[in-house]
Amino acid sequence: MDEFKARIILPNSRTVEFRGPADITEQQTDAIVNAANSYLIGGGGVDGAIHRAGGPSILDECRQFVAQHGQLPAGRAMLTSGGRLAARYVIHTVGPIYSGGESKESELLASCYRECIRLAEQHRMESISFPSISTGAYGYPVHQAAIIAVGSAVGELNTASSLKYVRFVLFDIATRNAYVSAAEKLVQTKNKYRLEEASS
Ligand code: ADP
Repeated sequence: MDEFKARIILPNSRTVEFRGPADITEQQTDAIVNAANSYLIGGGGVDGAIHRAGGPSILDECRQFVAQHGQLPAGRAMLTSGGRLAARYVIHTVGPIYSGGESKESELLASCYRECIRLAEQHRMESISFPSISTGAYGYPVHQAAIIAVGSAVGELNTASSLKYVRFVLFDIATRNAYVSAAEKLVQTKNKYRLEEASS
C-alpha cells in the first residue's frame, strides 16, 4: 500500500512528507520519534509499539538516562539507539498533557518538534519520522496540534544543515487528514512553499 498523501517542498529543497494510515515502527528513516512520558518507562500507544518492536535495549538506555538526569520534562527530547528497529535511533520526547490550552501546551508542543530536529542535526541525521505527539492519550485536539507540528517542523527544516527530510507517520485517517489540511493551510499563507498531493 502506498500511503503517501502529500509533501511540502521548501525553498532549500528539504521536504516534509505526510503518510498514513501508517506505523512508525516500520519506518527506515535515520530516527523515529517516540511520544514518551516523563518517566521514559514505556506505556501505551506509540510508546508501547516502539518498545515492543525495538526490544529491551531501548528501555535499558531510557532507565540509565533517568537514573543519571532524572525525568524528562514536557517539551524536551533525548536519544537512544534503535534496538531491533530499522531506524538507527529513537528520539524520545514528552508532549504536553492538554488541559484546555492555557498551560503553555502550544509552546511545549512546538518545543518537542524543535528539540527532536536539533538532536537529529547534532547527530548529522538526514531523515526523521514523527508521530502525532500528544494527540492520543494526552488529549491535544488534533487540528490544533497539526498546525503546530507542521509549522515547527517546516520552520526548523528551513535552517537545517544535515537534515533533509521529515516524515509525519499518522496512524489513522482522521489524524492524517488533519495534518494534510494543516499543510494546505501553511502553503496557502506562505507562498515560498510548494505542496504536492497524491492523486487519489
Ligand atoms: P500521547 O500520549 O503523546 O498522546 P499516544 O501514543 O497516545 O501519545 O498517541 C499519539 C499518536 O500516535 C496518536 O495519533 C496515536 O493514534 C498514534 N499511534 C499509536 N500507535 C502508533 C504507531 N505504531 N505508529 C504511529 N502512530 C501511532
